[in-house]
Amino acid sequence: MKEIVILSGKGGTGKTSITASFAYLARHIAVIADCDVDAADLHLILKPTIKRKEDFYSSLEAVIDQEKCISCGKCERVCRFDAISSYNRLYDVIGLNCEGCGYCEKVCPVDAIKMKQKLDGEWYISESRYVTPLVHAKLGIGTENSGKLVALVKNIAKQIAERSKKEIVLVDGSPGVGCPVISSLSGANYIVFVTEPTVSGVHDLKRVFELASKYHIPSGLIINKADLNREKTQELIEFAKNENINFLGQLPYDEVFTKAMVTGLSIVEFDKQNNISQTITQMWEQIMDY
Ligand code: SF4
Ligand code: SF4
Repeated sequence: MKEIVILSGKGGTGKTSITASFAYLARHIAVIADCDVDAADLHLILKPTIKRKEDFYSSLEAVIDQEKCISCGKCERVCRFDAISSYNRLYDVIGLNCEGCGYCEKVCPVDAIKMKQKLDGEWYISESRYVTPLVHAKLGIGTENSGKLVALVKNIAKQIAERSKKEIVLVDGSPGVGCPVISSLSGANYIVFVTEPTVSGVHDLKRVFELASKYHIPSGLIINKADLNREKTQELIEFAKNENINFLGQLPYDEVFTKAMVTGLSIVEFDKQNNISQTITQMWEQIMDY
């Protein structure tokens, strides 16, 4: 089983459109893992039917038992995150601010504070409209630990792939270089970088490549909207050559990206005869041949 991770370094490069096309092309042999848990959007195209839904708990939050509290104010004084508010000698925890450090629990003289597990999100096992299994998740507003949630989503996808003897786990990674990206790289066999020829596109690709290179995973590069800045496109091609990144090809700016998205289809489904669809199909064949 091969794990292929799609990364972009930055948002807006067309990564989701390209990933959805790859998901369609691999629909009979893959399990899809949407690991962009902070802003998942692959479901807009894959239109999954949820088969299983689970809560995701990974952090702690302080809770005050008002019956026991004697309003001494110690918890409010020690909390460095301004997570305890008081009004008319009534003390309470502001959940969004609480970092779960547990200091308030330690100082409370009457044992009125307990640390409870905090609901950080949900994860799902679904069937996409391609009938391909899709594992995806939603992180709660203001919650953290997206790296842990990505690890969970990937592990579940791998288990399903092993059980159902699928050849590929196709992972849609997060933008940036934070914990969710690091988590999505662990155990990957191939990385596809999707970028665009802009100053930020080049900068963010270099940043995410620097991170990914620590893992010594073979990788390929797709340049989207390549015709918008030929100079930057050339710079990206040179970068790929120097860093031993397989140049998978380039796509011109094309409204088919938007049109396909608006109709809720991947590009390769929306217009099979379009040059973009054919180039994406060839890119996928190169990835499969690797
Ligand atoms: S657990 Fe830590 S962050 Fe949360 S309220 Fe207590 S002291 Fe503040
Ligand atoms: S430290 Fe305990 S008793 Fe004192 S205000 Fe906080 S919860 Fe109440």
